[in-house]
Amino acid sequence: MDFKQIITGIYDEVKASAPDGKVSDYIPELAKVEPDKFGIALITTKGSTFSIGDVEEKFSIQSIAKVFLLSLAFSIRGDSLWERVNVEPSGNPFNSVVQLEYEKGKPRNPLINPGAHVLSDILLTELNDPYEAFLQFVRKITGTRSIDFNEKVAKSEKNLGYRNASLINLMKSYGNIENHIDAVLDFYFHICSVEMTCEQLAKAFLPYANLAQPFDFAGVTLTRSQIKRINAIMLMCGFYDESGEFAFKVGLPGKSGIGGGIVAINPKQFSVATWSPRINKKGNSIFGMRALEMLTTRTEDSIF
Ligand code: GLU
Repeated sequence: MDFKQIITGIYDEVKASAPDGKVSDYIPELAKVEPDKFGIALITTKGSTFSIGDVEEKFSIQSIAKVFLLSLAFSIRGDSLWERVNVEPSGNPFNSVVQLEYEKGKPRNPLINPGAHVLSDILLTELNDPYEAFLQFVRKITGTRSIDFNEKVAKSEKNLGYRNASLINLMKSYGNIENHIDAVLDFYFHICSVEMTCEQLAKAFLPYANLAQPFDFAGVTLTRSQIKRINAIMLMCGFYDESGEFAFKVGLPGKSGIGGGIVAINPKQFSVATWSPRINKKGNSIFGMRALEMLTTRTEDSIF
């Protein structure tokens, strides 16, 4: 497969198309990002990297961090995790309060906000220093020691985090949050504030594609069966209430964030990350989705 030619062709074509969508601005610090950044990085399980555009610039990974959070919590709790959070697509916005009330405080899945709050709560209960454990894991999996939280972004979100606070309060009323609400919020906002480049993000997700290698990073171990489950959750729930659309158009498990990043994997083959900050109404990067749809169309290869 000539990935270099395919990625270059896609980049040129998408970059030349009319800008669409808006940079997310409900976290004031994220509104400052230059809207027309665009990068694509693909890493194969054989170790080749193909990248083009703004692939060495850091951006806020936001909800993509939920997959790392899930990996830590699943590694610690195993299947008992599913007593606290379900594995069904939500079909609702990622921060919907309504669904959580109907379902008595048990989140639909780990990749919507209340799901990630529950996972954050579990790490706060289980670990002496969950902040450090989270950083150690993401540093190890990217092979980059400089990966860090962005305190300004975390603070900026915390200042206006009323909806996340309401979700956690609601779950606490149903007994599905053990720790202090403020502690859960603070940890959750920190993990969302982690910054990575496209190349680092593609590298971080390669182990979810590379099933031949044991998954073991900074003490976080997952079995092949657990990776299968995480990938299934990404396919069904990784793109907010546009997960069906993403599976329909792209056909790969993945995760998006409102910082404009998308990462997807083709099991046993590659991991690919895109970054373009203009997002659609559902919260997904428009250029990123378009580029990935073109990738699986042109390679004629997806999980289906
Ligand atoms: N920190 C963001 C929030 O809680 C994450 C949103 C996202 O990327 O989906 O609203």
